[in-house]
Amino acid sequence: MIDFIKRICIALVLALFIGMLFVGTSYTFAHEDEKLPEELVEAHIWPTVGDVTDTYGTRNGKHYGIDIAAEEGTPVISIETGVVTRSYYSDTYGHVIFVEHENGLETVYAHLNERLVDELEVVDEGQLIGTVGTTGESSGNHLHFEVHYGNWNIEKSESIDPFVVLSTEPEYMYAALGEESPYGSDWRTRDSITVSSNDKHRNSDGMIVVTVNRGDTISKIAYENNVSVEEVMNWNLLENDVIYHDQELKLYPNKDRHVVKKGETLTAIADKYQLSIEGLQELNKLQSDLITTGQSLVINK
Ligand SMILES: [Zn+2]
Repeated sequence: MIDFIKRICIALVLALFIGMLFVGTSYTFAHEDEKLPEELVEAHIWPTVGDVTDTYGTRNGKHYGIDIAAEEGTPVISIETGVVTRSYYSDTYGHVIFVEHENGLETVYAHLNERLVDELEVVDEGQLIGTVGTTGESSGNHLHFEVHYGNWNIEKSESIDPFVVLSTEPEYMYAALGEESPYGSDWRTRDSITVSSNDKHRNSDGMIVVTVNRGDTISKIAYENNVSVEEVMNWNLLENDVIYHDQELKLYPNKDRHVVKKGETLTAIADKYQLSIEGLQELNKLQSDLITTGQSLVINK
């Protein structure tokens, strides 16, 4: 009999341990970033361009998003294809948009100046959904951006650090951290912008109009058309390098010039146009083979 009771006790203790194991597992699942599918990590474009002025988990753990300061009216885009689940005015969030994505994320864009999409609307990655503002409980123009793995809830228990899902590739940089950032000012330096460039048509004066599609960057458009990012910005009166889906950009490519891209060497450029290095130096009156990014070189007489 005593043996039997012993066995029951051992069984109960074991059951208790196994039960605790499950409790522990389900707890960590909801909160730990490493449980995110790998394909979501650093896989998304940034929602706007500006300076990151506050990061996730600050204010005694009560800041469930990141803040990106930018001028009023700066475009805010959806970081991924999805469905708008909410688009309304909240006393705290101000004008706010929630987008639910098929990959399991829900993103929140708050303090907007204006909302440009309606509830239940399907939005593309990179689609303009609103503009930066300072509505609701906000002390200056910025985007408050949240990412939830699962659905948003009032406790924000599913929130994750947006940096985990935002790309660190310069091509996909929409925001740069400000000087005050704990990560330093060089980290995630904005270089160019995500968007794209398929449709082109050429005018009689040689100007071409490029319609921006998803997936391209302003530097890609510049590269493909042999112009510099600065030229694209000047021709289109852009104050920053944010461009968005369906935007039309005017370009004036010149086939007699080559604009030096980051990392290019004189040798590579000479090869590209089947010139000798000496020939290229002569055309451009270069004393050495030193060239700088953005420099415009003559490649034809
Ligand atoms: Zn915030």
